[in-house]
This record gives sequence, C-alpha cells and structure tokens, in this order.
Amino acid sequence: MQYRIDRKSGNKLSVLGFGCMRFPKIFSKAEELVMRSIEKGVNYFDTAWIYPGNERVLGTILDKNNVRDKVFIATKLPLVLFKGTQVSAEESRVDFDKYFNQSLERLKTDYIDYYMMHMITDMDQWNQLKALGIENWIDQKKKSGQIKQIGFSFHGPGYEFLKIIDDYDWDFCLIQYNYSDENFQAGVKGLRAAAAKMTVITMEPLLGGKLAAGLPKEAVKIFKEACHTQQGGPADLSPAGWALNWVWDQEEVTTVLSGMGNMDQLEENLRLAGASEAGMLTDKHKDVYASVLKSINRSCKINCTGCNYCLPCPFGVNIPGSFSAYNVIYSHGYVEGMKQYITSTGFTSETGSGPCLCNKCGKCELLCPQKIPILKELSKVRRKMEPWWVRCIGIGMRFYMGKKRKKKDV
Ligand code: SF4
Ligand code: SF4
Repeated sequence: MQYRIDRKSGNKLSVLGFGCMRFPKIFSKAEELVMRSIEKGVNYFDTAWIYPGNERVLGTILDKNNVRDKVFIATKLPLVLFKGTQVSAEESRVDFDKYFNQSLERLKTDYIDYYMMHMITDMDQWNQLKALGIENWIDQKKKSGQIKQIGFSFHGPGYEFLKIIDDYDWDFCLIQYNYSDENFQAGVKGLRAAAAKMTVITMEPLLGGKLAAGLPKEAVKIFKEACHTQQGGPADLSPAGWALNWVWDQEEVTTVLSGMGNMDQLEENLRLAGASEAGMLTDKHKDVYASVLKSINRSCKINCTGCNYCLPCPFGVNIPGSFSAYNVIYSHGYVEGMKQYITSTGFTSETGSGPCLCNKCGKCELLCPQKIPILKELSKVRRKMEPWWVRCIGIGMRFYMGKKRKKKDV
C-alpha cells in the first residue's frame, strides 16, 4: 500500500480509502472485505449517519476484530435534516449532539477521526449552519478530543466551493473527482485551491461505476488498444484501473475512496493502489484519456465545458450542473443523470437551483464562450429531466419535508 501525508494532522493515510456505502448486504461478506483491506494496509474508512445501517456494520466489524485503533474512521453530520428548519441555535446544538452521539454509539467508538458536514452545496447553506452555532459546537468537540479532524463533503458549483474553503479553517474536504469531472463541481480548480489549505479526499473515481462498466463501447476500445499497443499504459489495465490511476496521478489528492462491493474489485484496487504514484502518467497516457473523454463527450448533447463563465446566474440557476446532468443521461444512463441532476440542482428542495428558476434575462448567453443557446437548452433540459412524474415526486417531497419541519417546530 502507498500512503500520503494528511497535511493538517500528519496522519499517514492509505491512498485507497474504503467507501463503505456500498457494503454487501451480508455481514460476513462486508467483514471479509474490511478485514482483507486492513490486512493489506487500507486505513481510511468512510461512512455517514445517513447511510442506512452502515455505521453500525462498520463499528461492529472493527470492534469484533479489535482493530479500531488501526484505522481512521470518517463519518458525517446529516445536514439534510437541518435544511430549512426554523429552530434556535440551542435546539440545533441538541440535534448536532444527538446525531454525533448516535454515530459514536453505532461505530462503537468514543472519537471520530474525520468528521464532516455532509453534502454542503453552497455558501448559503454554510451560513445557515454558522447561524445555528456550528462553529462553537465544532470547537468544543475538537477540544474534547471527540472530533480529531473537521471537514465537509461537497456537491455544488465550483465557485461556491471556493468561497466555502476560504470561510473556515477546515482540516479536510471530500470532493467528487474523476477524469470526466475535471471541470464539474469543485473540479481541478477547487482541488488545487483546497490542497493549498487542507487535505483533500476524493470520491466517485469511477462515477458510481459508470467509468468502468458504464463506458461507451468506443471508449473501452480506446483503453484496450492503448494497453495492447503500449501507447499509453501497461497491458490489461481495466477501465477502472485507468480511472483510479488518473486520480492518484495528482499529488493534491491524498486518499481516493472506492466503494468496493466484492473481493475481485478489492483485490484489483489493492494491486493498483500498491503501484500508484503521484506524477506517474506520461503525456501518452494523457492523450489516451483525452481520446476517451472525446468519445464520452460525443455521446453528450450539450457542448458545455463547465467553465462556469455564465455563473453566478442572478436567479441562482446552476446552468453547467443542469447541462452536465442532462449529458450524463446519454453517456451513463437516465438514473445516473437524474441522480446528478438532483444533487447539482436540488430541484426537490425550496433552496434548489434548477432551470425552473430562470427568468430569461439572457445575461448568461452573453458570457458563454461556447455560444450555447442557454435559454433554449435549459428548456430542453427541463422537459427531459422534469417530466410530469418527476415533478409529482418533487411536489410530494416538498410536502413531506414541509410536514416534517412543521412537526419539528411543534
Ligand atoms: S437567462 Fe436564466 S439562466 Fe441565464 S442568467 Fe438569466 S435567469 Fe440565469
Ligand atoms: S459559460 Fe457556457 S460552456 Fe461555460 S459553463 Fe456556462 S454554459 Fe457551460
């Protein structure tokens, strides 16, 4: 296993981190994976309060095998449960404690090595948390030793990420990052800016498996030919291997999370992690990724590069996020595109940033270097991504969240 140093704490973190969200359903299978990965040097395990049953499975495995002190545990405060709530700072503090203590109990530990605000999407959300007294709460938890390192996971536009990393003395952050997301969400610009201040952990190196099993056939052929002709890489490197190597090549990344659901995936990732090195890719390798990306992009319908020049939209529309999710439908399927659409536009919440907010002012079209007819494309995106049944789900969720909030207020 290769290790990289956490710049803030000095911890030696394995370059391969275990994303526990996709644990197999059977406990013994999950246990086998966790113990094998620890045996081979993996020492960073990522879970979250909100992943059903996940913290408890991880905690039980570590406790049963007496290996808690051999690993770093990362888990997350469920911010989604605070979104839009109208409670006082005092009441929020009780809730922060409640969720944190539940995580400790489930994980069978009395401290968390890496604790995150789960899924911050923009500065407004962070400001709301500050108004609820989160900074004091973090200070006290760190002083008590219950939280060792504090960070946040991020799914939002890049310009919001840059504001958030500047607004607080974070120890680390967790961002989505892979060769097809170089200019999406935090992106390479965010990665570099963050790495100058804190440790950066990345997730989704395979975009939920879509850069492995879900690649267009033409892209798979390009990788295969590169292996066989030795133009770009060693023989028999799988698309997953190409994707992981792309992230490990970058010295700004400390640990790459991978959700390994079976022993074959784990063994392949362990082998790749063992051989990984920052700066290992040559120009020839990079040409191969560029060809593969072109192939992926050919299945794209809107030629948005994610440059963000059109942002901020005065009405809060996440234009590149909407276009990117729409393209994902054609390159990686409807479900993945929809997942991306919901996380980048949050259209199901009142604080969303979907195309429905556009008031047709036209400012963005003047700024787009690709000369994309943004207004027309946003309408197309909305028609595709928000058919009547999706809007019904959105209305249902708003109704449900509103009821939940009222209950809480009472
Ligand atoms: S036209 Fe719509 S998306 Fe573009 S800047 Fe104006 S409100 Fe925003
Ligand atoms: S300016 Fe154009 S290319 Fe750049 S992010 Fe906006 S829509 Fe995409």
